[in-house]
Amino acid sequence: MTIDQVVVVGVSAAGLTAAETLRREGYAGRLVLVDSDTRPPYDRPPLSKQLLRGEWAEEKLTLRPPAALEGLDAEWRLGVRAEQLDLVSREVELSDGSRAPFDGLVVATGVRPRTLPFAAGRQGVHVLRSVEDALALRLGMVPGAEVVIVGAGFLGTEAAAVAAGLGCRVTVIDPLDLPLERQLGPRIGKRVAQLHRDHDVQLLCGNGVTGVREIGGRVCGVVLNDGAEVAADVLLVAIGAEPVTDWLKDSGLVIENGVHCDEFCQAAPGVVAAGDVASWQHPTLGRLRLEHRMNATEQGMAAARTLLGQRTPFSPVPYFWSDQYDVRIQVYGRPTAADFTAVEGSLDDGPFAAVQRSVSGRITAVAGWNMPRQLRGLRQELVNQQAVQCSADRTDSK
Ligand SMILES: Cc1cc2nc3c(=O)[nH]c(=O)nc-3n(C[C@H](O)[C@H](O)[C@H](O)COP(=O)(O)OP(=O)(O)OC[C@H]3O[C@@H](n4cnc5c(N)ncnc54)[C@H](O)[C@@H]3O)c2cc1C
Repeated sequence: MTIDQVVVVGVSAAGLTAAETLRREGYAGRLVLVDSDTRPPYDRPPLSKQLLRGEWAEEKLTLRPPAALEGLDAEWRLGVRAEQLDLVSREVELSDGSRAPFDGLVVATGVRPRTLPFAAGRQGVHVLRSVEDALALRLGMVPGAEVVIVGAGFLGTEAAAVAAGLGCRVTVIDPLDLPLERQLGPRIGKRVAQLHRDHDVQLLCGNGVTGVREIGGRVCGVVLNDGAEVAADVLLVAIGAEPVTDWLKDSGLVIENGVHCDEFCQAAPGVVAAGDVASWQHPTLGRLRLEHRMNATEQGMAAARTLLGQRTPFSPVPYFWSDQYDVRIQVYGRPTAADFTAVEGSLDDGPFAAVQRSVSGRITAVAGWNMPRQLRGLRQELVNQQAVQCSADRTDSK
């Protein structure tokens, strides 16, 4: 199938990379780039790091200089939302009343933060996904402010580190016993807990939030499930995110924890998905949906190539990182909530490189604590193993 009209919905890390890949690989047809945000594409990891700390101006987050965006020779529809997908007429209905016809569609609408319904609408209550969110949150992070963060995942713990660094009094609340326990297991969770305690962050783990207190519409505290109250000038809700798929409702695409794709990132003929919104069949790791910055770029490329008729399964080694105080945590592979085992250094003190293994002894994930060089070597082992497994699978299916 030849394509000469491509619409990209969501022009951030994944969508922009898809558009660039299409052009780089020789696609010369019409290219329409739709994003509900009015800003040119920008990067999100610095929102909970450099921007929140006040070290970077927002202009520094821009993903490409204006000349590179112009060089795409695309029709930009910024500040316009996709509202409906019609797979029969092959058009996307847009919020300005127009319709964007396509023969190739890239879905890259990312995720939106989950909220606490009982806290919504109060002043001082925040989520963190956009530049506006980060700037608003930053305004409240003044020295001495009581900052309460619900959720001790990566976003919550990164924001806690920034708030503590800015001189706020920080409390992190999570129903699990340790921060990042769900993502990296109890031993690394314990280490992360100690890191935050060393910076005077109060951790109320094993606790849920059941309500908020307010004065004149402004949050002043949260209520825990045991009835205790914690004072809050600022409340950050960091309890995960959900794929933005409402505009795909009734389109005929399968929506199951994101846009359901095959191993080529294809959701339907001529329709691909990439980035946080895409759930795809990884050839060796099974069905995945990753909210990782590097995956957004790599999957944007893969999805664009699929649109152009190339048939290469998308089989990355997943990677993400997190910066907290002077620590960079890096993770490759698919970690579970089981414990990691150190292969260099100690999980209890100082830098370390650690692995998780399958029952057969294969490395399934590697994690590093300020150990980037050692981690690159371990990553290579994961790459090699994945390649062996892929070729074994191909042999089996012959
Ligand atoms: C604060 C923060 C810190 C992070 N830190 C890290 C980190 O340290 N390491 C890491 O690996 N990852 C990190 N991430 C995750 C990483 O940023 C994401 O994986 C990446 O941004 C995903 O890119 P995406 O293009 O898939 O989605 P997004 O960046 O979410 O982009 C989706 C785009 O779609 C647009 N859109 C949505 N709905 C519509 C619609 N109906 N019509 C038109 N446009 C629409 C949105 O405006 C947006 O521009 C962080 C994320 C956040 C929010």
